[in-house]
Amino acid sequence: MCAELVNQAPVELDFDPDALRRKYDQERDKRLRDDGNEQYLEVKGQFSHYIEDPYVENAAKRAPLSDEVDVVIIGGGFGGLLAGVRLRQLGIKSIRMIEKAGEFGGTWYWNRYPGAACDIESYVYLPLLEETGYMPPKKYVEGEDILAYSQKIAHQWNLYEDVCFQTEVQELRWNEDSCRWLVRTNQGDEMKARFVISSNGPLNRPKLPGIEGIDSYKGHTFHTSRWDYGYTGGDAKGNLTGLKNKRVGIIGTGATAVQCVPHLGEGAKELFVFQRTPSSIDERNDRSTPADWVESLEPNWHQDRMDNFNTLVSGGIADKDLVNDGWTEIIRNLLVMVQSEGGAELSFEQLMEKMELADFQKMEQIRSRVDKIVKDGDTAEYLKPYYRQFCKRPCFHDDYLPTFNRENVTLVDTGGKGIERISEKGVVANGVEYELDCIIFSTGFEVGTEYSRRCGYETYGKDGLSLSEHWQDGARTLHGLHSHGFPNSFMMGILQTAFTANYPHTLNEQAKNIAYVINRCLGGNHQVVEASKEAEAQWVETIVSMARMNEKFLADCTPGYYNNEGKVSDRSQQNVPYGAGPNAFFKLLEEWREKDAFDGLNVS
Ligand code: NDP
Repeated sequence: MCAELVNQAPVELDFDPDALRRKYDQERDKRLRDDGNEQYLEVKGQFSHYIEDPYVENAAKRAPLSDEVDVVIIGGGFGGLLAGVRLRQLGIKSIRMIEKAGEFGGTWYWNRYPGAACDIESYVYLPLLEETGYMPPKKYVEGEDILAYSQKIAHQWNLYEDVCFQTEVQELRWNEDSCRWLVRTNQGDEMKARFVISSNGPLNRPKLPGIEGIDSYKGHTFHTSRWDYGYTGGDAKGNLTGLKNKRVGIIGTGATAVQCVPHLGEGAKELFVFQRTPSSIDERNDRSTPADWVESLEPNWHQDRMDNFNTLVSGGIADKDLVNDGWTEIIRNLLVMVQSEGGAELSFEQLMEKMELADFQKMEQIRSRVDKIVKDGDTAEYLKPYYRQFCKRPCFHDDYLPTFNRENVTLVDTGGKGIERISEKGVVANGVEYELDCIIFSTGFEVGTEYSRRCGYETYGKDGLSLSEHWQDGARTLHGLHSHGFPNSFMMGILQTAFTANYPHTLNEQAKNIAYVINRCLGGNHQVVEASKEAEAQWVETIVSMARMNEKFLADCTPGYYNNEGKVSDRSQQNVPYGAGPNAFFKLLEEWREKDAFDGLNVS
């Protein structure tokens, strides 16, 4: 199940790094545009039908609540669930969870498109595996299994007792006199809480391309995160029989499209895939969970495996690669290169050079894979990604590329420009109008827009100051969890905190910290806990100074949400994760808790 990271044979390089550098620059330049995040439409007003919940039959009906609890948790995805679990484990009973969906599950509740699955290994992605005793049946699990697992967590820790589904927070307001948060919702609630935790999900608000004519289309249309099975037929496993007489267009070729395109190709009479930038598609190689491996696991195996994965994908060194898949392969290449030079001590610059070569090597393999699979030469060429692997979310799929060998499937590459407009009848790209019965937007989610807009509510702290005002020049936090002027409030996410492809791991570490702080406050009868101005300023400085080390890498990348759509700025560099990597951040939090001194927090 794991790979040794020593004594592997050196690999011969058979590419010209300078030529590749030039090619990467050319491809990035084709995709650069002035409008950055402004190119997308906020899904509201006449577009709000794109975010209606297709999975609930009836609108929730209940009397508004005006009671008080110790902790309100906003969000019922893994973040909210983990916060609930960690609080419960410390004996905190008075919790209220608020979730706009009709169930727990977060991203896995919304994203039920055909083929939805996780391509981070299930044995590291699913949280609390040792606590729940659950063992995933496969290395990579499907979305519906993850949704069911989320609900299992909620049952095990009795979180169903304390949840308001189909409820959207509209405003959080701090009351200085009572030291309570007032939580207003679209159900007319005015709840009070001593503490609030916001775990809204970094990819929770679907976005649409702001292109001419988007409101003029007369055919059927929806966003992948609100899949319309009533129209397509079938379910998350595919079998989209409703499309057998339909000409379907899908806009976007990111990680979501990669998973649903094979099913669309199979179900639709004709499928047109509109591409702006190709994704990198590595093999998936799913397999069942071996019984003897499960038998062999020692206590704490889950934490060890998550830590090992993080170490490797964030550029660290480990003896073994326990996960041993496409995510960690790049680092295996790097180690082989370093060893082939006798393992000599390398400077930071030399290491970065080796890293770039290892990346080129990996991407050459990804590009040659396209040639091996896709029969039409032009189509294969268009499907080749020319950028560094972690400029965009890498994808792992065995059926995406072969779909382009089907007679009924056409790739419409737009040379980095995107589609031109939408007409009454379909999509216009490269000057050609494609008449379509249905347009599916696989155009992703807001990431670089303002935090409160993505939450869907404003937070008003001390003296009525809004979080948007406090963050007008970029996020300001301590550890990404607290913000000065917003007492007793906690954020879970990716701003100024750890980032790892294994996002639930980050959420789990954040949840432990938040639960620790709340428990200490409740136990010690501290009414108010708040990041000090100085500690916040120092943390912002730490984040920004580390971000500088990554600035060139991001600026060289093809645009996307990883690099603020190609517009790397002082503000965007303040809204980044902690630059020393996830494991360093988790250690920092652990030591902070062990010190038991609330460093950087003021309590009263
Ligand atoms: P993305 O933001 O990754 O992709 C959006 C796509 O829409 C891109 O291909 C983009 O092109 C394209 N696009 C946007 N505007 C236009 C336009 N005007 N014309 C043509 N194309 C356009 O969204 P996804 O939903 O695919 O994925 C979001 C994230 O969700 C992933 O990055 C990943 O983190 C997560 N995810 C995780 C999975 C997992 O296995 N764990 C599975 C699926 C998603 P361009 O690239 O040029 O911007």
